Amino acid sequence: MYSLSLVLIVNHFLIFLKSQSAASGSASGSHHVGVTASSSTPESAVPPTIATGTSQTIEIDADVNRVDDNDERPVKRKKLTSEVWQYFNKEKVSIDENGKIYKQEWAHCKFKNCTYKGRCESATGTSGFWSHLKLHHSVVKGQQQLKAQKDQEKGINVVEPYKYDEEASLRKLYVAIIMHEYPFNMVGHEYFRDFITSLRPNFPLKSRVTVRKEILSIYMQERDKLYEYLKTVKCRISATMDMWTSNQNKGYMCITLHWVDDDWCIQKRIVTFSHVEGRHTGVRLSEGFTTSMLRWFVEKKMFSLTLDNASANDVAVKDIICCC
Ligand SMILES: [Zn+2]
Repeated sequence: MYSLSLVLIVNHFLIFLKSQSAASGSASGSHHVGVTASSSTPESAVPPTIATGTSQTIEIDADVNRVDDNDERPVKRKKLTSEVWQYFNKEKVSIDENGKIYKQEWAHCKFKNCTYKGRCESATGTSGFWSHLKLHHSVVKGQQQLKAQKDQEKGINVVEPYKYDEEASLRKLYVAIIMHEYPFNMVGHEYFRDFITSLRPNFPLKSRVTVRKEILSIYMQERDKLYEYLKTVKCRISATMDMWTSNQNKGYMCITLHWVDDDWCIQKRIVTFSHVEGRHTGVRLSEGFTTSMLRWFVEKKMFSLTLDNASANDVAVKDIICCC
């Protein structure tokens, strides 16, 4: 079981992500209160967007495969031409054994969280490293992975080299969970795991606890980006505020900021989705609103506030105008 507040934070986050599209008009019966207004000069700035990871294009060099990686003849010094060294870092160590110093060369696997290492003197060969890559990271020697996709501009199908990126794939999974509101424990679902295993047997599907932690950290990063972005917004910002009651009969306040960016596109972000204790009195609402505006450093940039026609909102609006 997850605490409700965490679910709400994440829920809040995904609404915030989804709310990047243009805002729709407000419902009938709403009242619109001007707070302050003045002219402003827009400055170029880009709204934060979530990065979903990019696939890398790798160069195919025909000469790379010419050296036989399994050649175990004692050669004096071979150039590091094998593809295997893309995945390993070499390290020279001196070992003191009964007063005698031995020099050794070790290769450490570059994959994150992998502790594999092996001797890599020129006579050792690379087959052991290839076995490790195949077994643990699905990298097969001499196998160039390709992906076919449609070139939208030219309208033709193109085939490009494809490189598997574990971190990027995991990030895409987290983004999918956020955007489609999947439960965190989907990563533990038997048939989902089966599906992923069928695609890539050693894909490191994390536990729901780790997924929750990762998604929370994405939320923190995106929130910080929004903080930074809002600092650069030079135009006035409007807000809408609404109260919402959960099926557990708990009250929540939702505040959305709206503004027009430098490209004349309407932007909106949910900046507060918080639990309001007790009755929704006007004073409580105005307190919640002003606290949120101060927290986001936009209290000096307010242009208007739009609310629905709940009676408590009349008191809230008077209170907010007094504060401003
Ligand atoms: Zn490894």
